[in-house]
Amino acid sequence: MTNPPIDPESTPTFHPAPEDVLECARSIRPKLEELLGPEAERVDHQLADLLAKANTGQQVDDRILDLLKRDEETYYWMAEFLSEPPESRGFQRLPGRGAVGQAHKYVCPLGNDYTWYRRGGEPIRTCPTHHVALVPADRSTNQLNRES
Ligand SMILES: [Zn+2]
Repeated sequence: MTNPPIDPESTPTFHPAPEDVLECARSIRPKLEELLGPEAERVDHQLADLLAKANTGQQVDDRILDLLKRDEETYYWMAEFLSEPPESRGFQRLPGRGAVGQAHKYVCPLGNDYTWYRRGGEPIRTCPTHHVALVPADRSTNQLNRES
C-alpha cells in the first residue's frame, strides 16, 4: 500500500478510495432491484462475494468498480455516490460527514456487507447474505464510527 489516500470529492479523475468503494458496494445492494430488475440478484451475489473477500483483507475495490461499471444504471448510481454530496440523494453517506438526519444508517452486524438507510417507520430489513436483521450503524463495529 504505497498510494496516498485520495479524496474523491477533490480529485477530477474517477479514482475513489478503496473504503469508499466498499461502502458504495454495501449501499447499492438495497437499490439493485430498483436499478437492475431481474439482474439484481446475480449482481447482489457478486457484490456479496467481493465484500466477503474484502473482509478477509483482499483488495477488491477495482473488481467492484468493474462490476458496477458494466451496467449504466449501477454506473451512474456509483458515480453519484462517490462524487456528490450525500444530500443530493437524500441520504446520509458516512457518519459525521454530511449527515442529513431523516434517514438512519443500518448495517449487517455479521459481515458488514450491507448498508441501508431507513426512513421513518420502514420495517427493518434483513441482510440477504447472512439472513439477520440489520442493526443501527452507531451500535455496530467501531470502524463505522469514524470521528471527523
Ligand atoms: Zn451480511
